[in-house]
Amino acid sequence: MHCRKVLELLPKFIENDFSESERAAVEAHLKECEACRLEFEAMAQLVETLESLPPIGVPRSFKEAVMSALPHKSGKPPIPRSNGNGGPKCR
Ligand SMILES: [Zn+2]
Repeated sequence: MHCRKVLELLPKFIENDFSESERAAVEAHLKECEACRLEFEAMAQLVETLESLPPIGVPRSFKEAVMSALPHKSGKPPIPRSNGNGGPKCR
C-alpha cells in the first residue's frame, strides 16, 4: 500500500470506519513505514485532544440558551415597530 493511500485512510482508521482488510493493510504499513506511523500518531493525538475539549463551534442550543437568557427576552414582547406613536401612518 502506498503512503498516499494510507494517509487518505488514516482519518477513517481513527474513526474505525472501514473494513477489516483495510485496517490490516494500514496497520501493516504503519509497522514498516515510520513516516506514516508518525502521521497516524499525530492524528490520533489530535483527535484525542479535540475530544477532550469542549466543541469549538457554538451549538444552536447554546445560542438559544444565551438568547433566552437576555433581559429583553424574559417574557416581554418584542418592541413594536409602529404602534401609532411616531410610526408610519396608515389610512
Ligand atoms: Zn507510509
